[in-house]
Amino acid sequence: MARRSSRLLTPQGRSPQPGVIQSTVLGVYIHVPFCSAICNYCNFNRGLFDAALKARYVRALREEIRRVTDGAPADTIFFGGGTPSLLEPAEIRELIEACRGAFTLGRHAEITLEANPETVTAERLEGFRAAGVNRLSYGVQSFRDDELARLSRLHSATRARDAFALARAAGFDNISLDLMMWLPQQSVADWLGSVDALIALGPDHASLYLLEIYPNAPLRDEMARGRWSVAPDDDAAEMYLEAMARLDAAGYQQYEISNVARPGRESRHNMKYWTDQEWLGFGCGAHSTRDGVRWKNVSSTADYIDAVTGGGHVITEVRRLSPEERLEEALFTELRLAAGIDVERIRRRYGVDVWARFGKDLQVFLEQGLLVYDGARVLLTRRGMLLANEIMTVFLSSTVR
Ligand code: SF4
Repeated sequence: MARRSSRLLTPQGRSPQPGVIQSTVLGVYIHVPFCSAICNYCNFNRGLFDAALKARYVRALREEIRRVTDGAPADTIFFGGGTPSLLEPAEIRELIEACRGAFTLGRHAEITLEANPETVTAERLEGFRAAGVNRLSYGVQSFRDDELARLSRLHSATRARDAFALARAAGFDNISLDLMMWLPQQSVADWLGSVDALIALGPDHASLYLLEIYPNAPLRDEMARGRWSVAPDDDAAEMYLEAMARLDAAGYQQYEISNVARPGRESRHNMKYWTDQEWLGFGCGAHSTRDGVRWKNVSSTADYIDAVTGGGHVITEVRRLSPEERLEEALFTELRLAAGIDVERIRRRYGVDVWARFGKDLQVFLEQGLLVYDGARVLLTRRGMLLANEIMTVFLSSTVR
């Protein structure tokens, strides 16, 4: 289920991985690449569940985490995938314990588990909670069974509601739900029906993503065969704006282009990606950013296990970002936040006055009501968020010049 990207709502062709930084409290990401079935739109790093492979993978993860020896402070752990809720609670516990051994983990660390509704039971949820997980992120995607079937998801809307209730009963007071909009055959009313259903459940956090159908996705063929289409662009804009308006009215605060939360329930882990902080990723295909260097682990699950258990290197790409690249990434990601870019912070960290350098190119967006600059912050209006990718190219071109 992992994070979706979208044409409108994420920087083009980029995952949210900002630049680097002075010493900070780390985030820890643990990738779990197993799924019960492969969804027809998915291009994440995942494969079909295999119990024996999973057991070897968890052992490799523990070993990779154990190799971290500097005891650096960390205050978030995020199990992403894939479908991390396919792991046993005892395995999640072992991995959290490995993190406690490798890092100085704060007492109030946020520990998130991505979960698919069909994978949970009361017993498993209680096990995850007892293991130390204190935040759940459910990949719901839709509260309409016809839409879920078109996406080849394994759960129904009823199963999603049940999974939510089970999580509350197990004591989870920090639950996020993901929804996807602009689905094949989805009308504005269909979409808003799902948004209202989410609001009725009352999660603590919600992520709304546009479905992006990548070139070789099986869903493309299914859409052609079924003559399914997506709503016009103008409808997609209405879907986004009206959904956000309803979430506002229900007491949620938008803090990022695609994310809303009850006060204090923002994803502390994802905020690290969006506020120019550092994190370490474990598992196949995981990215890390620390001390000005970015690296990526080998993508294949089998190669990853072999590399770790054979005592070899799991890192495939290492790159030191230039100061210009760090600045660009910081601007890209901070503009995604509702609070926008903190001009003084950028000046202190990068020695650049954002408005002096980019104001001339940003002025046109200001005049169109897509951007606000109040002397302290540069931020997108909600209409501007729909065109974030275009506006961000102003920062991109600066490093090319
Ligand atoms: S649950 Fe579906 S969308 Fe999520 S990672 Fe697995 S295959 Fe991809």
